[in-house]
Amino acid sequence: MNDEGYMDVALDLAKSVQGQTSPNPPVGAVIVKDGSIVGIGAHLQAGSAHAEVHALEMAGDKAYNASIYVTLEPCSHYGKTPPCADAIIKSGIKRVIIATVDRNPKVAGKGIEKLQKANITVDTGVGNEKAEELYGPFFHYAASQTPYVTLKSATSLDGKTATITGESKWITGEKARLDVHHYRHENDAILVGVNTVIADDPKLTTRLPNGGRNPLRIILDTHLRTPQEAKMVTDGEAETWIFVANGVSQDKINFFTTNTDARVIQLETETIEIDPVLRYLGREGIMTLYVEGGSGVNGSFLNAKVVQQVITYMAPKLIGGEDAPTSFAGSGIESLKEALQLSIKSVEMLGDDIKIISVPKEV
Ligand code: NDP
Ligand code: ZN
Repeated sequence: MNDEGYMDVALDLAKSVQGQTSPNPPVGAVIVKDGSIVGIGAHLQAGSAHAEVHALEMAGDKAYNASIYVTLEPCSHYGKTPPCADAIIKSGIKRVIIATVDRNPKVAGKGIEKLQKANITVDTGVGNEKAEELYGPFFHYAASQTPYVTLKSATSLDGKTATITGESKWITGEKARLDVHHYRHENDAILVGVNTVIADDPKLTTRLPNGGRNPLRIILDTHLRTPQEAKMVTDGEAETWIFVANGVSQDKINFFTTNTDARVIQLETETIEIDPVLRYLGREGIMTLYVEGGSGVNGSFLNAKVVQQVITYMAPKLIGGEDAPTSFAGSGIESLKEALQLSIKSVEMLGDDIKIISVPKEV
């Protein structure tokens, strides 16, 4: 195998732990000596050993004069664990191949510098494109201290999310719905508006064939209208936080939290603005947020221009009806120039449906 091949193994290891490492990035490492893999590792969880440490432990003495492939620049600072750059130097590794430099200011080139000072050959750029994609959320969070937002919608070909009577189950097919559960598993938190909670009483848990990790569940609910018996606040399957505005009385909040499992977070404003919600989540270490609507909430995220990735599932159905809802409500715009410009990254068939991933164009 060549450098790209070994890096692909490391990237696969990193991808396999995506969603379970926040607020740390998913990292994979592979140690190769004389053409054989002698150690592999992934960072499983914040607070536990880094990928390089696992791989070095597995390699033992074989790490001497070997090469290590790492998806992200090895750390050089003392966090919850000692610096990986030091462990690599100590092991006698002679070459380090890095897919992407860590843009987190705590590392940003310092790991590479440390290795080079110890006369280790450092090569960067192998597998860079794939790594940039993998670390998009991590770099976004490091730079903004707010979560990377993925907004999902499921519509008919004419862009409707329900019929005129509000029937929406199910517009898309089984494969598209299963795909949504992968995103729930990979994201730290999932967010909906209170109308969706009242209309559908969803659980918003991850139900993949092999289970999966449940995201933190978040409801935007100005007046605390969430029913006390809603599944999200009673099922105990995952934490649920409800953002409310300043008009809700402390008594009402106390009564609600006594009778449910939810945490109620009161903002200082009369309405719920998206930016403070994202900053709050960022402070709580939420690196990735999956927005599942409905259209009111989607419209607010669009207006606030805080979406990093849009995922659209479209079913080959035409629903029609002037009053049938679409994915985005909100105040709308007057001129096409103000529209959020996206680039389509991929188009894929999932059963009979189309999945489109798009990202905002850089301006
Ligand atoms: P939402 O679920 O988007 O909830 C909107 C409500 O959330 C608002 O009316 C408001 O109520 C509250 N809210 C609080 N803060 C904000 C904010 N900053 N921005 C927007 N809303 C805020 O409601 P919709 O009625 O638009 O959509 C619900 C319908 O959508 C349901 O019927 C559901 O089945 C469907 N749906 C369809 C999906 C699909 O993919 N096809 C996905 C999800 C839902 P208040 O003022 O009381 O706080
Ligand atoms: Zn490290």
